[in-house]
Amino acid sequence: MTRAIHHWIDGKEVQGKSGRFGDVFDPATGEVQARVDYASEAEVDAAVQAAAAAFPAWSQTSPLKRARVMFNFKALVEANADKLARLLTSEHGKTLPDSKGEIGRGLEVVEFACGIPHLLKGDYTEQVGTGIDSYSMRQSLGVVGCITPFNFPAMIPMWMTPIALATGNTVVIKPSERDPSCSMLLAQLFKEAGLPDGCFNVVHGDKVAVDSVLKHPVIQAVSFVGSTAIAEYVYATATAAGKRAQCFGGAKNHMIILPDADLDQAADALIGAGYGSAGERCMAISVAVPVGEETADALVERLAPRVRSLKVGHGLDPEAEFGPLVTRTHLDKVLGYVETGIKEGARLVVDGRNFTAQGYENGFYMGGCLFDNVTTDMRIYKEEIFGPVLSVARASSFDQAVDWVNKHEYGNGTAIFTRDGDAAREYASRIQVGMVGVNVPIPVPMAYHSFGGWKRSSFGDHNMYGAESVRFYTRVKTITARWPTGIRSGAEFHFASRGH
Ligand code: NAD
Repeated sequence: MTRAIHHWIDGKEVQGKSGRFGDVFDPATGEVQARVDYASEAEVDAAVQAAAAAFPAWSQTSPLKRARVMFNFKALVEANADKLARLLTSEHGKTLPDSKGEIGRGLEVVEFACGIPHLLKGDYTEQVGTGIDSYSMRQSLGVVGCITPFNFPAMIPMWMTPIALATGNTVVIKPSERDPSCSMLLAQLFKEAGLPDGCFNVVHGDKVAVDSVLKHPVIQAVSFVGSTAIAEYVYATATAAGKRAQCFGGAKNHMIILPDADLDQAADALIGAGYGSAGERCMAISVAVPVGEETADALVERLAPRVRSLKVGHGLDPEAEFGPLVTRTHLDKVLGYVETGIKEGARLVVDGRNFTAQGYENGFYMGGCLFDNVTTDMRIYKEEIFGPVLSVARASSFDQAVDWVNKHEYGNGTAIFTRDGDAAREYASRIQVGMVGVNVPIPVPMAYHSFGGWKRSSFGDHNMYGAESVRFYTRVKTITARWPTGIRSGAEFHFASRGH
């Protein structure tokens, strides 16, 4: 019997009633391992009502007590990290160490949320006028919706919900229907950590569930991570309904390699950042831009044997460097891009299309692919492939490399490899991208900074996690107060102004 994955509403599992559901695969074997309920509008409404009912008490709970729940949650996630990582690998396909790494990056945001009493301290000014003081504070919004992608099923829920909750909001999360189980385990751990029922709810499903979140009048704000087309749709729909929205989309991250770079270090970085997690990372490097033909030749010479010998296998195989892709549909899409690249005239230096994993012939595997001589008019350059396919686009100068990156539709992450501090500084300053690495291939900021791309990689005003998230999940209230002194100044008809 296939396992059933239900919703989590008001502190307990709730079986779906819509009659709609989706298959959850084990990408390593290609088999269906579970069936996940798809929520109807009424089921999303039930989750929102539970969150709304929990909001008054939770928002009035002191930040210190909310922080204690986060401390408990952190300890529980750590204690259950192995279980969570195995669940993640079984539905997503990434290797177990990669799953553990993802959980670690999520935990950093939980740790940040533990400091919420400090983060919520307001501003106070004495004597803004005679006998008048003024103070500002940040208050929670109410019920917030979180919609997350398949590629980080533990980390991205932990990028959003700990801060949403610590700031006093209650949450309805709609995780990816392709790997929905991590959110269910997080829900149980939140409950064990002492989070009151109704504060954290999980509804599963597809567009029906997402649209129900977007139009629900009680939901005050929406955090979204996924592909650009959906991010843009979610942003437009949520904001048209008067909600706050932060929506993070797709990427095409370039790594520039200058002639003076340590090419062995650059090749190592490209192998990890291009092929780790089968390239299914929004911060994966998908385009290498060596500057000058000599640099390009030397780089490709280093990359090709490394890509040929990449170890692809079951996520639980300790030898595997990356695992299968998430679904057969996604695998076919990535293979289709490789075909397109060949037709467009790029040179396929390493062809990983015919890879099969021994013993797992029906799994969704492919080997690493490496394209050289990719040009900026090609679809494989312009579009996000989201697979283990690295393109080398040869630039003739630093300025040309900068120009390509700046003209690209996406602006999530980028990196420059060089020994020249001046060039690196200029690159960081001129580049139209939200997150920049200098000899660091995947510059995902730490939890106390914040994450976000530019251009069509992000819609909305606030980055994710860090102080930016505290701002996103709260609104400012400013109080101007005078206490009666017995002295009457009479009615005032003009605006109080300077010197008052
Ligand atoms: P996706 O856009 O297919 O799905 C994201 C979420 O939107 C899921 O919960 C899904 O159920 C929902 N959704 C899908 N189609 C919808 C529709 N038509 N209407 C309403 N909702 C819909 O993305 P994915 O394939 O799960 O994730 C991969 C994408 O996410 C890549 O483009 C990747 O770059 C991006 N991503 C971006 C970041 C970032 O921070 N910028 C981080 C991780 C992933």
